[in-house]
Amino acid sequence: MILSIESSCDDSSIAITEIATKKLIYHKKISQELEHSKYGGVVPELASRLHAQALPAILAECEPWFSQLKAIAVTNEPGLGVTLIEGVTMAKALSIALNIPILPINHLKGHIYSLFIEKEAVLPITVLLVSGGHTQLIEVKSYTEMETVATTMDDSYGESFDKVAKMMSLGYPGGPLIEKLSLSGDSSRFAFTVPLWQSPLIAFSYSGLKNQVRLAVEANDESAYPDIAAAFQKTATDHLIQKLKKYFKSRPPVRFAIVGGASANLYLRERVKDVLHPYKAELLLSELKYCSDNAAMIGRAAVESFRNNFVVDYKKIAINPRCKL
Ligand code: ATP
Ligand code: FE
Repeated sequence: MILSIESSCDDSSIAITEIATKKLIYHKKISQELEHSKYGGVVPELASRLHAQALPAILAECEPWFSQLKAIAVTNEPGLGVTLIEGVTMAKALSIALNIPILPINHLKGHIYSLFIEKEAVLPITVLLVSGGHTQLIEVKSYTEMETVATTMDDSYGESFDKVAKMMSLGYPGGPLIEKLSLSGDSSRFAFTVPLWQSPLIAFSYSGLKNQVRLAVEANDESAYPDIAAAFQKTATDHLIQKLKKYFKSRPPVRFAIVGGASANLYLRERVKDVLHPYKAELLLSELKYCSDNAAMIGRAAVESFRNNFVVDYKKIAINPRCKL
């Protein structure tokens, strides 16, 4: 078994995964959303302190399996430096106490392997990763061969939802709040320009759209917020869809997936289904509970790391807050 730890942002989570069967033996997550909500975003110092409380409390429940553990997996990149260090320090202590090695796991690989929790991986696959820190199109050939073919030039898709929610004082995280508010709005009332509409680039950008939304929020009262939210969600998603269509012209999709916290957005899921339809491509999605950060996905990725023998000594593991895939 592998015990996995996730603390790259505002979720404290630990899982235990059986290596041979990939079965999830234990999984718990304590989210800090409520604590950060009043600030309209994650406060790193507060997140770090909350991890220091939550992680040991969860770990205490895992003691019955300690004797069966072969390795400790931990997210060491990318993420917030002050929160990554909480998980990594716990992993080091466990590694010393139980005399087992560490598997450093890339958080983005974790999001990709959230598709395969308790399952065999089906590869190759083209993946759209939409999260709080990333918006990327990735060609995944295997666990070790992943190519990022498009990325954002500024903000991420999920982050833009957070920022728009903050403008409307809705709370944090903004994604689910904006998605819900959009249901009662009319997306045609505000005509926002789709980012990079005329550009031949296959890349993403959300800062311009964010500013258009800011002007609309400032010029209108609260009664217009549902319409603004709906128009924003539509435009942000139109942007992803337009670039996917462009990309598919040169690389028709066979198997496609959306992962990351924002992949829970049902409007986005429907729009992507429509784009894939003419290609008869298969769409893979993570269960809703595994879209946002969790240790189950880290444990599932760790099974692949373990098979590749990517274990390290506790003295060799370092955090890498800004690392890519
Ligand atoms: P990263 O994985 O890039 O390091 P992160 O771990 O902070 O960043 P995730 O936990 O994967 O990000 O995703 C959180 C993001 O997903 C937040 O920005 C949140 O607003 C967004 N999100 C969650 N649910 C939805 C939704 N229904 N619609 C849109 N965005 C959503
Ligand atoms: Fe994440």
